[in-house]
Amino acid sequence: MRKIILLIVLFITANSIHAHDCHKQLVKCPIDNTEIEFCVVTGSIAYGNYTDFQQQVDMDDFYEGQIKSCPKCHFSGYYYDFSALYNEKEKKDVLEILSKYNDVKIDDAKECEIAGTIKEFFKEANDKIANCYLIGSYVLKKKSKKAVYRKELQKKAAYFLIKAVNNQEYADQAETIAINYLIAEMYRRTGDFKNALKYYDEVLTSKKITAWLEEMTPIQKELAKGKDDTNDI
Ligand SMILES: [Zn+2]
Repeated sequence: MRKIILLIVLFITANSIHAHDCHKQLVKCPIDNTEIEFCVVTGSIAYGNYTDFQQQVDMDDFYEGQIKSCPKCHFSGYYYDFSALYNEKEKKDVLEILSKYNDVKIDDAKECEIAGTIKEFFKEANDKIANCYLIGSYVLKKKSKKAVYRKELQKKAAYFLIKAVNNQEYADQAETIAINYLIAEMYRRTGDFKNALKYYDEVLTSKKITAWLEEMTPIQKELAKGKDDTNDI
């Protein structure tokens, strides 16, 4: 998950990330040993950015490929999550969580939800949990028919980002300010304009605000004032 945060930090400091390659890697499901193929991206040329920190990457399925599911049991996570070692009790616990998804269509967004749910169960860092839901919302960005589900994931992302800030999970103040901006965006995009304005103000009154946030936050704050929950940019 540091990778995603790294992406965010890179994004704040620069508008592009260079070097790209996708290496196919086979991993085994930690629950039932089913093989799953990951396309591990070591970097990707990115150009521009969205206001919710999503990179515009030169790979159509960049975010879809970040989190994957075992086709057999639906265990879901990042590439590194598949190297987790679970004892029998933990495997049973995970299978119980996964049983809720037996009759559910597993798509890319659902994989992110499951990954976040497993991380919640194991009480991983709130930031890591939040990012699963955030990526799920990125996957649904262009799918207007799934707006209700997308908002559900964004609300979960905001909830865990707030917990992460309160838990001091971020390296420094600059990162915390950026996360506060992201929280504001999650609230605005889900139509909770009151909380969005609270977090935009939190960013704007921060002494260590970066130039990009100083420029972007007032623009986004105006959207919230106008009760605009657009999720397109
Ligand atoms: Zn499995």
